[in-house]
Amino acid sequence: MSTVIEDYLKAIYKLQSSTRKVSTSALAERMGVTAPSATSMITRLSELGFVRHDRYRGVELTEAGARTALEVIRHHRLWELYLAEVLRVPLDQVHQEAERLEHALSDELEERIDDALGHPALDPHGDPIPTREGKVSEEGARPLSTVAVGVEAVVSRVPDSDPALLRYLGELGLLPGQRVRLTERAPFGGTLFIDVNGQRRVLSDELAQRVLVTE
Ligand SMILES: [Zn+2]
Repeated sequence: MSTVIEDYLKAIYKLQSSTRKVSTSALAERMGVTAPSATSMITRLSELGFVRHDRYRGVELTEAGARTALEVIRHHRLWELYLAEVLRVPLDQVHQEAERLEHALSDELEERIDDALGHPALDPHGDPIPTREGKVSEEGARPLSTVAVGVEAVVSRVPDSDPALLRYLGELGLLPGQRVRLTERAPFGGTLFIDVNGQRRVLSDELAQRVLVTE
């Protein structure tokens, strides 16, 4: 299967998890292509049995499409963890490497990586790794911006694809597994003050929306 097809299926899967209806224009924007070229790809994916498309419901993955998307996502996240843990690739670089490697992984190597890592449930950004059967558990994490003042929480998930953002979160100590406590919040969606290992950190509400925590 072509790399481009796999990338489209993955993009549709991710858009489906964040919006109800996936439009051609949203998909085109995500893939960085024009609407006509996204439209012709959707036609091709539909001929291959990977998506259904109508103007009212938008683009939807079929079961075969979802299975393929989850397999690519599994590859991606296993690679990220392998690169970070075994090869010590810095966290802000593993996503870009995994974007290429995800398309080239035999079932045998996938199993060896999974074994070597001890059948992990999460990648280094805290994103769940789908099982080989295509099951994925999106547990109840919520944005750090919604935590109440005085409450302790643990960072569980950070965005994976923006290296500068990841380096910044690393400098603040806000990576998965870190315990934090919200000490103060300016009113009307303003700045958040957070205690991280006894250090006072200042965070914009916008950034705090992108860091997920569990309590
Ligand atoms: Zn990634």
